[in-house]
Amino acid sequence: MAILDQALARLAPKLSSFDPGHVWLAGAGPGHAGALTIDVVAALGQADAIVYDALVDSSVLDAAPQAELHFMGKRGGKASAAQDDITALLVTLARRGRRVLRLKGGDPYVFGRGGEEALALARAGIPFRILSGVTSAFGALASAGIPATMRGLNKAIILATGHAAGTSDDLDWAALARTGQPIVVYMGLKTLGRITSALMEGGLAASTPAALIAAATTPAERVLVSTVGRLAAEAEAAGFASPALAVFGEIVSMRAELMELERLARSA
Ligand code: SAH
Repeated sequence: MAILDQALARLAPKLSSFDPGHVWLAGAGPGHAGALTIDVVAALGQADAIVYDALVDSSVLDAAPQAELHFMGKRGGKASAAQDDITALLVTLARRGRRVLRLKGGDPYVFGRGGEEALALARAGIPFRILSGVTSAFGALASAGIPATMRGLNKAIILATGHAAGTSDDLDWAALARTGQPIVVYMGLKTLGRITSALMEGGLAASTPAALIAAATTPAERVLVSTVGRLAAEAEAAGFASPALAVFGEIVSMRAELMELERLARSA
């Protein structure tokens, strides 16, 4: 696409050059290459080494054929690489004078352990930069036709992790439910039943609209629209798999309305 090349060439002078020995800690967005920021595209073009996670779509790596690739994520049931091993690799590569791109799904600072990696790099005296990415919650909501905020429906949106649901380290789901604001849950597929029960115990009506969005923005995207009371059972029956986000709140009802209007517009 020549037009794309021209647009990028005009933006190029505004972008930073990637210096040897530096680490850029970047978010690759929810999956679709179109959601990459220009900064991350520029990083892909300049990196000597890329250290990436399981959530980074392989199509994104096609933009960096010159880079050596280091996969550091969960695959085939094997445990994720230990966080210490990842930071040690980043430091080693940077000290060898590589331009190191640490690429994570979504945004590196949203449930991505980017803060820990930044601290480790700072402690090791490695120069680094953070490049934000589209976090999967916002990418998924947009892709599914659910506005994150809608005048008259919500004044805030809660991003929560379901990772610790049911443990002593858990969030106070009842308190979140009482805010009356929509909640998007990352890493909550395995614990969906516990989360929805806790939200209902906190006063959220079982009939509140709820959705599950899996593999958002990729060709494998799946969306299930249900209610807080039924979401967990329906997700299991439909065989939903990770990565997936759960959304609870009236904003979910906008999807049907938008889809219906879109359908009418297309058939007109
Ligand atoms: N840093 C990432 C989040 C990492 S935690 C971000 O900003 O998005 C991993 C969780 O992110 C998954 O369990 C899932 O809940 C969510 N996730 C990431 N990519 C996703 C996608 N394409 N579709 C749905 N959920 C996704």
